[in-house]
Amino acid sequence: MKFSDLMKKRQTLSFEVYPPKTEKGMNNLPGMIRRLGELQPDYISCTYGAGGSNVGKNREVLREVEKVAVPVTHLTCIGQTKESVRRQLQAYLDQGVTHILALRGDIPYGQSGTGGEFSHATDLVAFIRKEFGTAFEIAVAGTPGGHVECSSLEADIMHLRQKQDLGADYIITQLCFDMDVFRRWHEAIRKAGITIPVDAGIMPVISKKSVINQCFSHNACPVPRDLALVLTQNWFDTDPEGNEIPGAREAFREEGIAYTVRLLEQYIAEGIDGIHLYTMDRSEDVREVLQRAGLR
Ligand code: FAD
Repeated sequence: MKFSDLMKKRQTLSFEVYPPKTEKGMNNLPGMIRRLGELQPDYISCTYGAGGSNVGKNREVLREVEKVAVPVTHLTCIGQTKESVRRQLQAYLDQGVTHILALRGDIPYGQSGTGGEFSHATDLVAFIRKEFGTAFEIAVAGTPGGHVECSSLEADIMHLRQKQDLGADYIITQLCFDMDVFRRWHEAIRKAGITIPVDAGIMPVISKKSVINQCFSHNACPVPRDLALVLTQNWFDTDPEGNEIPGAREAFREEGIAYTVRLLEQYIAEGIDGIHLYTMDRSEDVREVLQRAGLR
C-alpha cells in the first residue's frame, strides 16, 4: 500500500517516534508503541541517527512498530558510501520495511560537506530508484520556512521539485508553527509544479525543551506570538532556590495541549493531505491531543 495513494483519497494520520536513548526507555518501548498503535495511525515512522549512530535501535523500534502499524524508516545519507546505503536498504527490505523517508541529515558542527558519497537528499532519492526501482515508497522532507542552509525559499522549493522529479512519492514537512508561513509555502510549491501529497509534520507543544531546540538550534523556525506567550508565561518550573513551583508543569501541559489542538484545526482547514505528529515518544500526551481535537 502506498501512503501517497491513500492521501489522495483521505487525510492520513501518522506518528514519528525515535529510538529511546536509555535502557529504561528501551524497556518501555513495547508499551509506548502499543499505546500509539491503539490510536490507529496509518503508519509510524522511526528516526535514524545521522551518521548511522542508532541503526541497531532503529531496527529494533521498527520491529515493535510492525506489530501495530505500517513501519516507515527515516534514512540519512550523511557520511555514507553507496555500498553502505545499498546494504542497509537491502536489510530493510529483508525485514519487510518498504517505506523510507529519504534525508540528507544535518552536517555536524565544524564539518564542511557530508563526508560521504552523497551530497543531498536528491542523490539518495536517485540512488534508491536506480538500485531498487519501485521497491520502496519514498517520502522526502520539505521545509515551509526554508531550510537553514538555503540561499532562498525559491531555491529550496526548486530542490524539492527535483526530489519529486527523481521519484519521491510524498513530502513530510519540517515543523512549522506559523500558519501564514505554511500557507505561503504550500501555495508556492503547488505553483512550482509540485503535485505529490504533503503530510504536515506537527510538533505537539508538550515539551518546552523540544520546541525551543527545534525552533532555534536546528531549524530557524519562526515562533508566532501566541506560541511565544505559552512558552514565556510558563517559562519557570522551579523558583530561584530550585524548588518546584506548584502547578507550573501542569499549567504548561494544559496550555501546550490547547495550543496544539488549535494548530491542528488550522492545518486541517488548510486542506493538508496528512497529519504527521512528532510524538517525542509521549503516547499519553498524543492521545489527549488527538481526543481533544476530535481526531480519535
Ligand atoms: P536536502 O534536501 O539535501 O537539503 C539540504 C539543503 O540543501 C537545503 O538547503 C536544500 O535547499 C539544499 N539542496 C537540496 N538538494 C540540493 C541539490 N541537489 N543541490 C544543491 N542544493 C540542494 N535528521 C536526522 O538526522 N535523522 C532523522 O531521522 C531526521 N528526520 C527528519 C524528519 C523530518 C520529517 C524532517 C523534515 C527532517 C528530519 N531530519 C532528520 C532533519 C534533516 O536531516 C535535516 O533537516 C537536514 O539538515 C536536511 O535534510 P534534507 O533531507 O532536507 O536535505
